[in-house]
Amino acid sequence: MHTDDTIARLGSDEFVVVLDSLSTDGDLAAEQAKLVAERVHARIREPLTLAGQAYRCKSCVGVSLFGAQATTVDELLKQADSAMSQGKQSGRDKVHFFDAQMQAALEERVRLEYWLQQAVPTQLMLYFQAQTDARGRIFGAEALIRWQHPEKGLISPAAFIPLAESSGLILPIGQWVIASACRQLKVWERDARTRHLVLSVNVSARQFQQPGFVQEVEQALQETGADPGLLKLELTESMLAENVDAMVAKMQQLRDRGVHFSLDDFGTGFSSLNYLKRLPIDQLKIDQSFVKDVLEDANDAAIVRSVIALGQSLGLAVIAEGVETQGQKDFLAVHGCAQFQGYLFGRPLPLADFERQLQTA
Ligand code: C2E
Ligand code: MG
Ligand code: MG
Repeated sequence: MHTDDTIARLGSDEFVVVLDSLSTDGDLAAEQAKLVAERVHARIREPLTLAGQAYRCKSCVGVSLFGAQATTVDELLKQADSAMSQGKQSGRDKVHFFDAQMQAALEERVRLEYWLQQAVPTQLMLYFQAQTDARGRIFGAEALIRWQHPEKGLISPAAFIPLAESSGLILPIGQWVIASACRQLKVWERDARTRHLVLSVNVSARQFQQPGFVQEVEQALQETGADPGLLKLELTESMLAENVDAMVAKMQQLRDRGVHFSLDDFGTGFSSLNYLKRLPIDQLKIDQSFVKDVLEDANDAAIVRSVIALGQSLGLAVIAEGVETQGQKDFLAVHGCAQFQGYLFGRPLPLADFERQLQTA
């Protein structure tokens, strides 16, 4: 809880907590409210002694979210009260939401998180998407994770990476991705047709910020014997919100080992040029949202041109992602972009299909 949250006693054993600073995103706000409610539960459950007698209390929490739309205080309290009664009836849920949809979404997340725990790493796999130069030659690939669920089929990272981040599962997952990428580089080293390939790997903020990150990467390199110069780690601007000095220091350690860095989704965050100058990166990745409308939207076109110019003046390679049409590729190339990734050159593919693509390219 924050200092600006409010607690009140409403009746004999009824209390109200008003959380003032939750996310404006409904799902995230629900997740945050649930965390606070669980902490309240945990504290109330702690044994206490009254007049030499030990007691244990139980509690039930009902949650009602309110946002920009007007709701009266009475209405909100009624909703929270009704959620609490439902929670009491169902008995199993410690925290119950008024909104049935929200409750269902929350239960789905809990289920998914449980499944994900079982899934690491046996149900995880890497797909590979080609990265090409101006002449269409494949110089590398981006490793993109997929979750092969036995019943639900292939689950995209957008559906489980945020959950993995909030639950902490991103740490074993991220470790598996880096180790697998290094193993793959080592296998590719044996074949003249694949030995030059650079493999880009996405690293999430939480993974990067964890104290053992540098050692983890070093260990993967050491154990597999992969060439560090062929490993490229994709970071995002959002990581810059944290301590920049610490970030630079970590990157530098890996860079000294030969590992390269790319700044993914570039242009969607708030990185100041001052930070950018200090980061030991090798590549800027123009976010696909700008590439998508580059031929129709003058603003997107201007942004794309500036990012390319920025990369050139800082001595960085620039790659465009989400390139789907020849027109987009031509625009990018004319303005000096020399690396490309997108459906025009190939979708993310399972290893065998990607290797087949290499042979026919
Ligand atoms: P990203 O790193 O920006 O990856 C690019 C995404 O754009 C991929 O989505 C890719 O399939 C998609 N894409 C590629 N070319 C095109 C195109 O021409 N048109 C369109 N519309 N889309 C294209 P995907 O594979 O679903 O991955 C989504 C995001 O999940 C990634 O965005 C990345 O942030 C995250 N992610 C993927 N794998 C990992 C991983 O191993 N670790 C972590 N932490 N995050 C990952
Ligand atoms: Mg990426
Ligand atoms: Mg991206």
